[in-house]
Amino acid sequence: MSFPLSLRVDALLPVLLGVTLTRFLAMGHYALQRKVYPGFKTLVFTELLGLGSLFASILRANIGDTAAIVFTTNFLLLAHATLVYHGFGAYVRAPRLATGTRRWLGFCLVVSLLQACDVIFAPDMSRRVIVYSLAMTVLHLRVGVGLLWRARRPLPGLRLVCFSYFVTAGLGVLRLAYALGGYELTYAEMLRADTLLAAFVLVRILQSVLELYAAFTMNSAMLEDELKLATAQIEHMAHTDSLTGVLNRRGLDLAGPEALRRSCGADAPTAVLMLDLDHFKRVNDTLGHAAGDELLRGVARLWTGQLRREDVFARYGGEEFVVVAPMTAEQEALALAERMRQAAAQAHFPALGGRRITVSVGVTGGRCDSLEALLKSADAALYEAKQTGRDKVCVAAPGVEEGENGRLARG
Ligand code: GH3
Ligand code: MG
Ligand code: MG
Repeated sequence: MSFPLSLRVDALLPVLLGVTLTRFLAMGHYALQRKVYPGFKTLVFTELLGLGSLFASILRANIGDTAAIVFTTNFLLLAHATLVYHGFGAYVRAPRLATGTRRWLGFCLVVSLLQACDVIFAPDMSRRVIVYSLAMTVLHLRVGVGLLWRARRPLPGLRLVCFSYFVTAGLGVLRLAYALGGYELTYAEMLRADTLLAAFVLVRILQSVLELYAAFTMNSAMLEDELKLATAQIEHMAHTDSLTGVLNRRGLDLAGPEALRRSCGADAPTAVLMLDLDHFKRVNDTLGHAAGDELLRGVARLWTGQLRREDVFARYGGEEFVVVAPMTAEQEALALAERMRQAAAQAHFPALGGRRITVSVGVTGGRCDSLEALLKSADAALYEAKQTGRDKVCVAAPGVEEGENGRLARG
């Protein structure tokens, strides 16, 4: 068969060997040094199979076709194509991957055994090339189609790799058609004279480089995803109170001004409520710190359920909570404060063993004021509630000033 390029497998094998070895070393080093996605180690293993298949091919060219060497080269080459799918498939989350791999490795085993039987019982190179080309075509079509159409996680570099699998499958079909017309070469001659096989090896070299690129791209994408997730978790932890699960003071400092800005933008008032459990210290002193903690969790859960999605709710200090309620006028704020106070007073908290609690609340409101100013004002109102008997809601009067003790008093 005449072919425009004079390609020889035996000239290309050292190149493929070099590329495979480089890939194996680079990926092996990466797999040992870093956290890699689940399929990455399978891909490193396929490189080992690739190296093995190359050495087996060279040995086969020298010792001739024995059943053992025919079985080994066939199995290593076919298993390589199967495990590549497993390696990439694990990343793109192709369904039924693990069971599929076992089944397809079984397929490789059967094909390789058939090839070995061919050598033992009725040697026919033509038939062996047909069987091998057919199996390779099926495997590469499966890899290309599987990765392109079943992938649940996209990756740009993979399209190019899949395209190269289709090229390989196409070459397989050509070689199959050629072998159907009769194939007289020995294995050693095949390495020198089978131009289609040489084209196959050439594509394999390019494919190998592309696969390396895709494998590394996938790993860095995975690491980036994990980094983003870890950063989000750390941010969440930094803004959340570990005891109650509501926002902490840092979270309030971020979410509070944001709620105020939204309200201000809509030219609507914002209410700020400061709620403090009365005589909470007694709970700790009489029932223990653990009961106090449980009560704080219970109260936070109870009040969270009473608020709207847009309200910001935070644990401000020990047993002090803050609500920043955007688009809320004073009357609505008062009603909300009263609802929250009564809900706490009526609630049964198992940690208290039948005892009830009372809560004092300071309420304030404003348009486009700073959070700091509103918190000061609400704190002043809370102070008044505490000073005038507790278990009540007090509203801050407009124009409050700094009092002697650092808290605010009515102006
Ligand atoms: P008042 O009615 O004036 O608010 O009195 P109080 O006892 O509620 O307030 P005080 O400020 O005297 O005491 C608050 C107590 O809350 C003191 C502190 O040990 C306790 N505390 C602060 N943080 C926690 C916590 O996370 N868990 C528990 N169990 N107790 C806490
Ligand atoms: Mg208190
Ligand atoms: Mg307090």
